[in-house]
Amino acid sequence: MSTTNVKMEFYCDENRCIECHGCDVACKQAHHLPVGVNRRRVITLDEGIIGKERTLSIACQHCTDAPCEQVCPVDCFYIRADGIVLHDKETCIGCGYCLYACPFGAPQFPRSGVFGTKGSMDKCTFCAGGPEETLSDAEYKLYGQNRLAEGKLPVCVSMCSTKALLAGDSASVSDVITKRVLRRGNR
Ligand code: SF4
Ligand code: SF4
Repeated sequence: MSTTNVKMEFYCDENRCIECHGCDVACKQAHHLPVGVNRRRVITLDEGIIGKERTLSIACQHCTDAPCEQVCPVDCFYIRADGIVLHDKETCIGCGYCLYACPFGAPQFPRSGVFGTKGSMDKCTFCAGGPEETLSDAEYKLYGQNRLAEGKLPVCVSMCSTKALLAGDSASVSDVITKRVLRRGNR
């Protein structure tokens, strides 16, 4: 999957999300995330406004020119050739700068200590593991499943029953959305 000129991305189709939480629950279980750490969240926008309320599933957007990477004082982020933004938990000092820089609130911390000790940051890896040896126990322990290395989609996308949540290279995702709009009135 790590091919140059390919930019991997998520897309949540608000016309299809039914707020079932299949995606965030699957993520939490697949990666054995501790209480309080949520790599993916289902959010409601314009709550209570009739005709406008909608739900979306959000996680790290694996941004181009990732703001988190730019502010990290210990340089623990790295960006794969396919655009997936990952970080090294062994280098992270838990300062929280990345959370302040991230427009999506994606970085998560396991603790909130009295002296600002938060523990190593955790976030969505696009189910692509981390810097340890691919598919090793060390990688699994720190980052959870590396489904991309097994040729699978991220678990959240696999579990989305309405196919609201999509993942893949930007051209393929855009192709699916365009077809929905043209053929089925965006349903
Ligand atoms: S953590 Fe936030 S800023 Fe960094 S790549 Fe993910 S969404 Fe973008
Ligand atoms: S919490 Fe970790 S990843 Fe985030 S900016 Fe600090 S050192 Fe970098």
